[in-house]
Parts: sequence; C-alpha cells; structure tokens
Amino acid sequence: MKKTYTLRELGLDEAMLASEHARPSVEIVKKLQQRKHESYIVGGAVRDLLLGISPKDYDVATSATPEEIRRIFRRGARIIGRRFRLVHVRQGRAMVEVSTFRRRTPKAETETVGGLQADNTYGSPAQDALRRDMTINALMLDPVAKTVIDHVRGIDDIRDRLLRVIGDPATRYDEDPVRMIRILRLAAKLNCEVEPAALRAIAPAADKLEVISSSRLFEEFKKTVNSGAAYKAFELMRKNKLMHAAMPDGEKLRREQLQFVRDALRSNDEKFNGGGRNSLSVLLACMYWSLVAPRWREACAGGEESTDLLYEMAAEAGLNRNQWVTRMVKSHIMNIWEYQYRFERIIKDGRKVRFRPDSYEVKKALELFELRVRHGEVPAEDKATLDQALAVDAADVPRKRPRRRRPRRRAAAAE
Ligand code: ATP
Ligand code: MG
Repeated sequence: MKKTYTLRELGLDEAMLASEHARPSVEIVKKLQQRKHESYIVGGAVRDLLLGISPKDYDVATSATPEEIRRIFRRGARIIGRRFRLVHVRQGRAMVEVSTFRRRTPKAETETVGGLQADNTYGSPAQDALRRDMTINALMLDPVAKTVIDHVRGIDDIRDRLLRVIGDPATRYDEDPVRMIRILRLAAKLNCEVEPAALRAIAPAADKLEVISSSRLFEEFKKTVNSGAAYKAFELMRKNKLMHAAMPDGEKLRREQLQFVRDALRSNDEKFNGGGRNSLSVLLACMYWSLVAPRWREACAGGEESTDLLYEMAAEAGLNRNQWVTRMVKSHIMNIWEYQYRFERIIKDGRKVRFRPDSYEVKKALELFELRVRHGEVPAEDKATLDQALAVDAADVPRKRPRRRRPRRRAAAAE
C-alpha cells in the first residue's frame, strides 16, 4: 500500500528544504543517494513540515549500514547508540542523526533492555515505516525527487489530524510502553485527536511503564514541559490513567490540589508560548507543592515551619519515589522550596534579604511563590511586603565576586 505524493501535491513549499535548519540533512541524503543508498528525511520532521510546524531536527534514514555511512562521511561520522546503533554525521556546524532502515522485531524474539527491545535488525524502507510508532511519524521525504513516500496511510491521517498507532495498540504498547506517553504528548503538542482504540488500550497497559528506564521518561517529560501544550498533555495523561507515571501520587489529587497543578501547567505554557524557556524543576516544584500546601500552611499558622519540615513533606508527597526525576532536579526542587521558607522569614520577621532577587535561582522560586499568592495561600499583602523588601535590599546585596580558583589539592601537596 505504498503511495507516493509530490511535495507540490501536498502543498509543501520546497523553500523549506533550503532553510538553514533543513540543509544539512538534505546534503547528507544527496550524498548517500549519490553512493546508491536509498535515503530519506524521516520521522518528526516530515510530520511537522506537513502540519506547518517548524521541525526541531531533521533525521535521516538510509539503506546504508552504520559502517557504510562512516566510510562515506569519514571523520564527520560517529557511530553511537546502545539500544540500536545510529550514526551522528557532522555537516558544517550541524549534527544529523542517520539511522539504517530496520524492521520491527516481535517481542518474543528479543531481550528487553530498560523496557525496550534491542532492535538492531536491518530492514527495508517499508519495514522501517512499520516499526515506527504512529502513522504520521512514518512518512519519508525524498528531498531530491521532491516526494513523500507513505507506507501507512499517514498522509490521510495528517489531513484528518489523527494519531493512529501502527498495528495493534496493545501489542505496540507492550513492546514499548513509552509510546503511550508519546501519543498523548504529541496529541497535545500537535493539537490532534487520538484514535479511540489507541486511547482505550492505554489504561490497561499503564502499569507497564514501571519497567521503563528513568532516562527515557525524563526525556519525554522534558519535551512535554517545553512543548507549549503541557497542560493538555497532562490532562490527557490524567484522563487516561497515566498520571502516576509523571507523579506517583498524581492520580489521587484532590480538587483544590488539581486546580493548583493545572494553574502551574497553564503558566508553564504561557511562558513557553511567550518565547520563554521552562525549567522542569519549576514545574515539578509547583506540582509537588500542591500536595504539601495544606500541611505547610498549617505549620506556618502555628509558627512551626522549618526547612526540615520541607524535606519531610517532600518525602511524604512521593518525590523520592519518583524514579525518573534525577537527583539534580530533586535538589533544584528542594532549593525552590527552601526559598519559600526564606521568603516567609523576610515577610514575618523582617529578616534582611541576603540573596540577589534577580538571580536565576530566586526567579525560579518566585514562580512558585506567585502561584501560591494566586491561590490565596499567601495573602496579597505578604507579597507586597516581600516585593518591597526585595526591591529595597537588592541594592545592598553584593554581586557574587568571581570565585578565585583555589590551587588543586595535588598542586598544594607538591608544594
Ligand atoms: P518530537 O518532535 O517531539 O521530537 P518525534 O516524533 O520527532 O517528536 P523523536 O524521539 O525525535 O520524536 O523520534 C523520531 C522518530 O522516531 C519518530 O517520529 C518515530 O518515527 C520514531 N520513534 C521515536 N520513538 C519511538 C518509539 N518509542 N517507538 C517507535 N518509533 C519511535
Ligand atoms: Mg524529534
């Protein structure tokens, strides 16, 4: 059922392929084709172009093996990858991911690594299309012939803005449970519908996400936070009983907690859509705060707030159980929380500000603080007090002096 469309037929402006961003991949495809290797631009880039979105990266797929690719691009090529081997090809200042067509290997035939099969079996272009997750992600663009090749009726789905899993959804989720998060994340980001069968298969398979490596989940959530549609993505995850993958206790949020989380997500997206860049730590600091806010408020009312309590609350809210949140992100979250305590001291005790209010760290902490104000958790007059203190004291806080480098211990010992 292979179908070939011309770019013109699809209403795709060829000038897109001459853009600075697309050119390196186009050059690589040309060179591979000159050496008689079938090659295309594939994946998210083709999908985004057809949907009128500017792609993040232009991946290339080819019939050439990693060794052949390396021989063609010599020093500009580096073979990488654990799950499957692919090649990073340098083209000017850009780096393009080039992979060899491969086929889907049924679960029974392979060992799973981190919940994902190690599928390194090469295949035909048609097989490569079929191993991909969704039809709109399986299109192949030939920038030389100026065509798009469609093995899976993906063009129809692009036109209908419909996300369809290739093959049986339950089987494909079982092979790789991350596909469940991907389909919801992309439905939100691309503003597309998901076919009902693909949605129905999610809740029964949700527990399979437990075997997924933290780094893969981390990557998916990092993409979600900076997609401009995190709110919708999380709503879809909640409706489809996948929220626990993001947050272990996420399924149990009570009404006002959910309002808080939703508000955090909305501000996150507003910031991104306004040209800003979001930090996963801020979003998580806000989301988890929803779980601890009542206890913190109580503690503050009784004058019992402390940084120790913040750590206790974090543990109770399940932050430590959240496997995919890295230690680094956890420490950022705690830092944002500790600032809430410092703000409290400034407001209540009139303590002097001992940090620069315009530092990146404080700005992140203020994002949570503002959310708390909006939710009536912090009275507006307290915010006014803090703002004033920050404005007045800021002038007095010395800028961090550039740290003088201490001699390394080894050097010291040699003295
Ligand atoms: P984004 O634009 O958010 O990066 P993407 O679809 O491009 O989304 P990538 O992770 O960059 O996501 O993947 C590139 C392509 O690889 C996808 O378009 C899809 O064809 C294929 N792919 C990625 N992840 C999977 C998966 N888990 N199962 C099957 N195919 C996948
Ligand atoms: Mg991509």
